Amino acid sequence: MSGRPRRLVVVGAGIAGLTAAFEWRRRRPDDEIVVLEAGGRIGGKLDRVELGGRWYDTGPEAMLARVPEAVRLVERLGLAHELVRPATTQASVVLPDGRFPLPAGTVLGVPASAEGLDGVLSPAGVARVAAEVSLPPLRPDGDVAVGALLRERLGDEVVDRLVEPLLGGVYAGRADELSLAATMPQLAAHLPAAGSVLGAAAASRDAGARSRFDADAPVFVTLRDGIGSLPAALVAAARAAIRLHTPAHRLTRTASGFELSVGPAAVRETLTADAVIVTAPAPKAARLLGVVAPGAVAPLEGIPYASMAVVAMAFPAQEVAAGSGLLVPPVTGRLVKGVTVSSAKWPHLAGELLLVRSSVGRYRAEAELQRDDDDLAAAVVADVADLLQLSRPEPVDTRVVRWGGGLPQYLVGHRGRVAAVRAAVAEVPGLAVAGAAYEGVGVPACIRDAERAVEQLLS
Ligand SMILES: Cc1cc2nc3c(=O)[nH]c(=O)nc-3n(C[C@H](O)[C@H](O)[C@H](O)COP(=O)(O)OP(=O)(O)OC[C@H]3O[C@@H](n4cnc5c(N)ncnc54)[C@H](O)[C@@H]3O)c2cc1C
Repeated sequence: MSGRPRRLVVVGAGIAGLTAAFEWRRRRPDDEIVVLEAGGRIGGKLDRVELGGRWYDTGPEAMLARVPEAVRLVERLGLAHELVRPATTQASVVLPDGRFPLPAGTVLGVPASAEGLDGVLSPAGVARVAAEVSLPPLRPDGDVAVGALLRERLGDEVVDRLVEPLLGGVYAGRADELSLAATMPQLAAHLPAAGSVLGAAAASRDAGARSRFDADAPVFVTLRDGIGSLPAALVAAARAAIRLHTPAHRLTRTASGFELSVGPAAVRETLTADAVIVTAPAPKAARLLGVVAPGAVAPLEGIPYASMAVVAMAFPAQEVAAGSGLLVPPVTGRLVKGVTVSSAKWPHLAGELLLVRSSVGRYRAEAELQRDDDDLAAAVVADVADLLQLSRPEPVDTRVVRWGGGLPQYLVGHRGRVAAVRAAVAEVPGLAVAGAAYEGVGVPACIRDAERAVEQLLS
């Protein structure tokens, strides 16, 4: 891009879109930046409510610090003093036959050896894991489902009792459908050389430990006023024009750049742009890119989403022995898929109330969400009171936040779909895509993808 002032239009005011606006501003102080947002507020999946007198996240509540882009962004915004590390990260998994601390040293639940698995797996399940050494070396051939590979190599128990709860937490997805290459890229990369799942898990765990320059650095962080405080900070620093209730419908090329048809049906208008970064979720991006990058449409349409609801609850203060929380896989038949004990996990949330959040809804199990807020809250409170064995189970406050299309599903072949989208978009100078649909659903990964998009357009 040449040096004269330009207009960047960003589609979507989630963390990816707002990071793109901020990063562009850092590099091009004089450009005009417009962020189009279909909804009525900034932040996308980042949101917070006031619960028990504190800011409480109802979207993401923890950021992986090992992917450094989120902490770096917080520092660039002058908010490093707001970073909080967890007081405890010890979580347990709830299974039909009991509750077990999550074993240390796994890669998203995939063990590096049979050690430390007693209890969470049956003796036969542990023996099955140990027996991988006697299987023929693994010769990976293309992408596979996490579940298919692990069931064959380590047995069903590892999948149903360890991996499923963790993948369910991160993706709201199912091990038998999620892509190994996309959800566990390090492990997948180590498979050919290691020749076994246990060896690849050990190698990727050790590589992760080596890449952490500070061994005392926390694995996760949050922000004192909630991760939901980031969007406003980004908007202020980006000096961008934010246009709420302004969906982008159609993107076309002109001789010198782009034209976007935007706004509600009654008041459509046309906006011109020199560069466009699309951060809307995959189905919306597919519709928008149909004219300029038709090759991106089919792969984008191949990325489905899971819907979920988060119920935030404040109970009277009481002792609970659940560490930072519980993972609750489908084998339990429970409604909730996890419980985060926020007032134990995060020191700034400790106080007179027990603050807890719980999520409901998995890919292909959205029927659970077909009840009104009061019913859903009552059912979740009952489940949580039972799981945490609450002595005072009457909440003083509850909030229900629904996330329709909350998390993209990285199904088998996802990386191929992303490569096809990127290739189609790369043919259009001045156009980029970024966000959770592509190379990581976590907030740090979305930030990295947005920074990459800006770098690509400005280099
Ligand atoms: C309940 C829940 C809990 C999570 N927990 C964590 C966690 O603890 N840690 C973590 O790292 N990650 C977590 N995630 C994942 C993470 O929050 C998201 O993946 C990430 O915030 C997505 O950001 P994004 O900018 O890519 O997309 P979005 O936040 O979806 O933003 C896209 C924006 O585009 C707008 N839009 C759509 N179509 C158009 C259009 N045509 N024109 C204009 N605007 C449009 C949308 O309204 C939206 O605001 C969680 C997600 C959910 C749902």
